[in-house]
Amino acid sequence: MSKVLIIGAGGQIGSELTYKLREIHGSDNVVASDISFSNLDVVNSGFFEVLDAKDFNAVKICIEKHNIDTVYLMAAMLSATGEKHPMMAWDLNMNSLFHVLNLAKKGIIKKVFWPSSIAVFGPTTPSINTPQHTTMEPATVYGITKQVGERWCEYYHKQYGVDVRSIRYPGIISWKTLPGGGTTDYAVEIYHKAITDKAYECFLSEDTQLPMMFMDDAIKATLDLMNASEENIKIRSSYNLSAISFTPKEIAASIKSYIPDFEIKYNPDFRQKIADSWPKSIDDTSARADWNWKHDYNLELMTKEMISQLKKKYTSSEKIS
Ligand code: NAD
Repeated sequence: MSKVLIIGAGGQIGSELTYKLREIHGSDNVVASDISFSNLDVVNSGFFEVLDAKDFNAVKICIEKHNIDTVYLMAAMLSATGEKHPMMAWDLNMNSLFHVLNLAKKGIIKKVFWPSSIAVFGPTTPSINTPQHTTMEPATVYGITKQVGERWCEYYHKQYGVDVRSIRYPGIISWKTLPGGGTTDYAVEIYHKAITDKAYECFLSEDTQLPMMFMDDAIKATLDLMNASEENIKIRSSYNLSAISFTPKEIAASIKSYIPDFEIKYNPDFRQKIADSWPKSIDDTSARADWNWKHDYNLELMTKEMISQLKKKYTSSEKIS
C-alpha cells in the first residue's frame, strides 16, 4: 500500500487532493502537511504535520517518520502574489521542488507529483490551441519558476531515473477552498459574490479568454496521471491539460441563467497584464493520447455545480470579504 504525503495540503487544490486520496487509500495512508494549521477541515480529517517545504531536513524527517513513498508537492506562491514578492516566489517554488527531487534521487521516495501551470507560456507563445512544445518566454516570476521547474523535472528523470509527473494546470475553479493569489481567481470569486451580493467587480476585462477547469476534472487528471504506467508517461517536463476556455463576460452570462439579476462590472488591475500574456486555449492532445485524459465539465455543468454547492455552503457559513 502506497503512503502519501501532500505538501501544501491546506490550499485550493491540495485540500481537495487530500480528501480524494484519503477516500482512495484510507486516512492512515495519507499525511497532509502545510506551513500552518490554517485549513482546519484538512487538519481535522486525518494525519496532519506542520511542515515548511523550504526546509530540506524537515521534509526528509517527515517522509522517514511516516514511511512515505509518494509526494504531491502543492506548496507554491502563485502568479499575482509572486509579482509582489518575486524573490520569495523563487525561493519557495524552486527550493521546495529541489528538496523533493533530491529525496527521490536518493531513493527515499519513489514517485513525485509537481504541478506546473499555463503560466509557463508567455506573450510570444501562440495563444490559440497552444501546443505542447512551443515558444515559452514567461513574463511573470511565477511562470519563470514553473518553466525552470519543468526543465529540472525532465532532467532528474533523464539523468537519475526519478519518477516525477506533472501537469500544466489551467485556472482551477472550486467551491471548497478559496484560491490562493492567482490571476484566474476571479472565476471562483465571481460565483461567491453572485450568491452573496448578486454583483461582482472583475479585475480582468470582459473579453479576456483564459483556459480553465473544474476542480473535479483537475483531481481526476492528477490521479490518472499518477496511476498511469511508466511507459505511458512520454512527457517528463509537464503535460498540457485542457477542459474549457471562457471570458468573464461568458461566465457572467452562465451565472445569469441561474441568478437573472446578477450584475458584473469590470475594473482591470495589474493582473490584466499577466492574463494578457497567457494562452486563450490549450492543445492537450498528448495527455489525451498518452494516458487517456478526458474532461467531464463544461461551463454550463460547472456553473450548475458551483451555484448549487455554494448556496448550500452559504446557508451555514459566512460571506467572503
Ligand atoms: P494555494 O495557494 O491555494 O495553496 C498553496 C498552499 O501551500 C497553501 O495552503 C499554503 O499555506 C502552502 N504553503 C505556502 N508556503 C509553504 C511552505 N513554505 N511550506 C509548506 N506549505 C506552504 O495553491 P493551489 O491553487 O492549491 O496550487 C497548488 C499548486 O498548483 C501550485 O503549485 C500552483 O502553482 C499550481 N497551480 C494552481 C492553479 C490554480 O488555478 N489553483 C493553476 C495552475 C497551477
